[in-house]
Amino acid sequence: MPSIKVRVAAAVALAIALPFSATACGGGGGGGGGDTIVIGTKFDQPGLGLKNPDGTMSGFDVDVAKYIAKELGYSEDKIEWKESPSGQRETLIQNDQVKYIVATYSITDARKQKVDFAGPYLLTGQSLLVKADNTDITGPESLQNNKKLCSVSGSTPAQRIKDKYPGVQLQQYDTYSACVEALKNGAIDAVTTDEVILAGYAAQTSGAFKIVGKPFSEERYGVGLKKGDTDLRTKINNAITKMEQDGTWKAAFDKNLGPAGITAPAPPPVDK
Ligand code: GLU
Repeated sequence: MPSIKVRVAAAVALAIALPFSATACGGGGGGGGGDTIVIGTKFDQPGLGLKNPDGTMSGFDVDVAKYIAKELGYSEDKIEWKESPSGQRETLIQNDQVKYIVATYSITDARKQKVDFAGPYLLTGQSLLVKADNTDITGPESLQNNKKLCSVSGSTPAQRIKDKYPGVQLQQYDTYSACVEALKNGAIDAVTTDEVILAGYAAQTSGAFKIVGKPFSEERYGVGLKKGDTDLRTKINNAITKMEQDGTWKAAFDKNLGPAGITAPAPPPVDK
């Protein structure tokens, strides 16, 4: 989890960057056609999608997004990054504010009503993060015992808790970093989302938190894009397949998620 200092620096960097990104957006826009491309990702998920205090972007999702952009003909300096919180992703795509989104975005039938997905490019599952010294939270069932659980609005983990564990006191925030902050200061007892995301936060805080239990869902990460754009979907699927085959996928996984203690799984084949 970023320190307060880092978070302030990130906010300042963002404020400075905003007027310029507004200009860049006028040039290309989410729909493309200009010489820039707007890509959606997370800005606060270490190891996956993170905006650093110096304004650079890092993480596995960022590397997947960049590889796809390169295959589409956009070098790194032509990318404009758009923060894409879980609850806003379908809308950002539908309104042409982004060309595509790589943001720990699970492929689901409900979302497929509104957007299309390329991929999957990674499989993971929902899990729980608690303080390192916690002993009474062992899995989702143990949360029904008056525990406060944090997740994010519009996410599949929040929905699964509402559907399967209605007795749990679920608090929905806009971002997982806000949940982790609340876990740190004791306002909540646990955070739930995908294991890779939780591992990224745990690695950043050296020993303050731990992941408990076994993953209790299957999340298939896809690249979200405009519904009906089969040409773009095919190009992105080809890019993902190429990235998996030429070794870039594994190298990106090891670089970004290796420090969080996760070994690279076999990359999943893309859907037909
Ligand atoms: N993969 C889940 C989802 O797409 C959780 C992670 C997230 O919210 O980005 O909802």
